[in-house]
Amino acid sequence: MSSLSSVTCRTGCGACCIAPSITSPIPGMPEGKPAGVPCVQLLEDRRCALFGKPERPAFCGGLQASTEMCGPDRQHALHWLGRLEALTRPEPPLSPAWHTQPDH
Ligand code: SF4
Ligand code: SF4
Repeated sequence: MSSLSSVTCRTGCGACCIAPSITSPIPGMPEGKPAGVPCVQLLEDRRCALFGKPERPAFCGGLQASTEMCGPDRQHALHWLGRLEALTRPEPPLSPAWHTQPDH
């Protein structure tokens, strides 16, 4: 998207390996990863153990660093990604109560 300004990924951040959910299989996490859970492939120094390898999920390669997402620090990135996750979560099905008409 052209409105996003691109930046270089910050060393030691790892926010996008923790905050978002990943629905495709990751080695060690065959069901993918829930939101807010660190990926098992995230190394102690917060680099990806699968970087450059074919097993790395396409989601990870497609996520580009940007000033909006990465911000000035890791806390910003975790918060921004957590908010995005909440906004893009599929809506739960409507409960039957939503379909009842109010009494007149
Ligand atoms: S949020 Fe940005 S700086 Fe942090 S790991 Fe992801 S791309 Fe890198
Ligand atoms: S596979 Fe690598 S880039 Fe993708 S979430 Fe896990 S540690 Fe991060």
